[in-house]
Amino acid sequence: MFNALIVNKDDEGKTSAQVEQIGLDDLPTGDVTVAVEYSTVNYKDGLCIGPGGGLVRNYPHVPGIDFAGTVEASDDDRYKPGDKVVLTGWRVGEAHWGGYAQKARVRADWLVPLPGGLDTRQAMAVGTAGFTAMLAVMALEDHGIKKGPVLVTGAAGGVGSVATAILANLGHEVAGVTGRPETADYLKSLGASQIVARAEINETTKRPLEGETWGGCVDAVGGAMLARVLGQMEYGASVAAVGLAGGAALPATVIPFLLRGVNLLGIDSVMQPYENRLRAWERIARDLPMDKLEAMVQPATLSDLPRLGADILKGQVKGRVVVDVNA
Ligand code: NDP
Repeated sequence: MFNALIVNKDDEGKTSAQVEQIGLDDLPTGDVTVAVEYSTVNYKDGLCIGPGGGLVRNYPHVPGIDFAGTVEASDDDRYKPGDKVVLTGWRVGEAHWGGYAQKARVRADWLVPLPGGLDTRQAMAVGTAGFTAMLAVMALEDHGIKKGPVLVTGAAGGVGSVATAILANLGHEVAGVTGRPETADYLKSLGASQIVARAEINETTKRPLEGETWGGCVDAVGGAMLARVLGQMEYGASVAAVGLAGGAALPATVIPFLLRGVNLLGIDSVMQPYENRLRAWERIARDLPMDKLEAMVQPATLSDLPRLGADILKGQVKGRVVVDVNA
């Protein structure tokens, strides 16, 4: 028997989450059984743990959209017991039981061998948020990062923190947008050279185009902030749209696309093919300084998850929460 965070839904639709003991026979089918070492808390996990269940497809449910650990048993030639692996995406933790348990059983296709240079804890300090930040940086690179600073919105959150550290390490000037002025020193320690107050960018304007200010943007916030940022981009610059922490509606005009050639690049981490996942993890191992990654981490255990799930939905988590499922 082993520990898992089980989310249940009662007849009135009310969800509850607690740590319970389950057995291997309770796990869903899959080719590979993994002894999970670490998982994390992402925005989606907050939705899956929280009231109403958000994205959960079946109950009882084990959330946790990512994990890293050691293969315990495998019916697939690509993996053998003892291999270190990492998983993000593929609706694990939503439609299939995820990483908030000491064991997980998944399809071999969903896994990636742990890239050289990272241990399982570091891989989860990166986790889905950091993996997505890397995909966003790679998308900006593919389209060309221009002269001006690269703007990162939701900078003190998970995606924002990792994007800031990677971009700064690659030599870009980074401007971090945050609604929490107390995180300014933290963001500067990750490499941001400019801190922009959230309220400044959230102010509405009737002007569809403003000064050409940003050479690129990783946007974790969406909504009104993304709409405003589009009109502040340099000619031909790109915005990698990652998230919707500030809302799903996009009150924008087509003018930045027509008159400034701005590119809006959608980033999806869930359905990335194996080769892309491998490439992104290799870039993470190369381009993300491990001391900066460590500065983002706050440790947690399975029993902390209901509280942390609620915190991340309120935008109150700084950096990355790493869950030691064996603690
Ligand atoms: P976090 O909660 O860690 O970070 C989000 C940050 O956005 C907060 O820390 C806060 O930053 C800012 N923020 C929160 N609420 C608001 C608001 N109302 N208005 C403006 N800013 C706000 O989440 P993650 O970084 O893990 O994820 C960010 C987004 O990216 C989420 O929407 C998530 O679902 C999405 N995502 C998408 C993925 C994909 O594949 N496309 C993968 C992973 C995440 P600050 O305090 O600095 O202002």
